[in-house]
Amino acid sequence: MVTLHIGIDDTDSKKAMCTTYVAAIIYEDLLKMGLTPVKRPQLIRLNPNCPYKTRGNAAVALRFAVNSGKLDNVRKTVLDRVYELAELECEGTEPGVAFYVGEEIPDKLRDFSMTVVRRMVSVEDAFSVASDVGAELYALKGRRGVVGALAAIGMDKIPRKTYELIAYRVKQNWGTLRRVDEDSVIKMDSMTSPWTFDNFDYETKESRITPHTPCPVLLGIRSLDPDMAFYAFSILRILEPVERVLLFETNQATDLHIQEVRISDIEENTSVSVEGIVADLPKVVPGGHVFFTLRDETGVIQCAAFEPTKSFRNVVRALRPGDRVRVYGGVKSKPGMPLTINLEKIHVISLAKYVRALPPSCNVCGKKMKSMGQNKGYRCPKCGNKLPEDSRVLVEEQRALTPGVYEVPPSARRHLSRPLSLEELAHHQEALKA
Ligand SMILES: [Zn+2]
Repeated sequence: MVTLHIGIDDTDSKKAMCTTYVAAIIYEDLLKMGLTPVKRPQLIRLNPNCPYKTRGNAAVALRFAVNSGKLDNVRKTVLDRVYELAELECEGTEPGVAFYVGEEIPDKLRDFSMTVVRRMVSVEDAFSVASDVGAELYALKGRRGVVGALAAIGMDKIPRKTYELIAYRVKQNWGTLRRVDEDSVIKMDSMTSPWTFDNFDYETKESRITPHTPCPVLLGIRSLDPDMAFYAFSILRILEPVERVLLFETNQATDLHIQEVRISDIEENTSVSVEGIVADLPKVVPGGHVFFTLRDETGVIQCAAFEPTKSFRNVVRALRPGDRVRVYGGVKSKPGMPLTINLEKIHVISLAKYVRALPPSCNVCGKKMKSMGQNKGYRCPKCGNKLPEDSRVLVEEQRALTPGVYEVPPSARRHLSRPLSLEELAHHQEALKA
């Protein structure tokens, strides 16, 4: 008996299909062949800043004990099924499958996986690592999918792993409105959170367990614990047939994509955590996006809270020059814009004293004066009296913000980002042990 590790990526499209569904079908195929899984199926999220990704940028790993005489047969079963189910006719879908035979995953392959979660990796790099460790790669159309397929295999040990229970729809319902009673989602959330998370966005008032794409997924329940995921599922009122249910181990909600860096080391299409000082007053631009500049001893970078981050923007708007913060987010560049961190989370470490300059009252008639422009002094609108700039009144602003960690709402959260609720739970658990 040997262990066969199977990685699958990029079988989906923006229209339909889902890599996890292809994997769920193959998982059942292999069980029917009498094979024994050596680990739960794994759903591996890759670099969320990859410009080619389909929405979630997910790959899947399956690991089975196989009689070495059966290996060729198993490989053929997997490839045939991917060929049958992948959206090959879809532009941009480039399915990849990877196989590795061995008890232990080599360190080189583990390192490769971590790199794919954090950065952009070329197809050539994937082929080079595969050849070094003796993994096989199959590119079914185009070659891009092999990167994620190989990376999925290398993620056998996920630090701070979580779970997602995925329920799938019967085929005739694909593309129709999902029928899951929303009140039961709220009930499930109240009964199982924080062990389950991102079930419902109370700010936008929408269920987060049902996707909006026409794919086979009915719903997904993210959980810290396998039993709790099934318990949560049992609470839901589902008003349509469920074709199958599979529980995946995942690297979702682990912050595995984040690298701690200094500003001069920031690269496009990576996710970073940077500590620095707020360098200017946050600006709100049309469309409701909020921008500010962050500075450390190595340079400056623009940070943004875009409109979909909703009330998180209030936190960013309340920042003042001199505040010490640690920001978390994906680094993007857009034409006509400097390199920008799209904020996912911000730790407000300490607040600066912020002093505002207000116009003085007129020393002749008592009316509030008006500024004549920056450093140009003040003029009274009633009697025309003028006063120099240094007559301004300095008032220390009562800061609206308190130090702490703030995050975007669930509707704007990336799959890999760790929700604060999980951090808090971990702290409570530590405290209980102590
Ligand atoms: Zn006056």
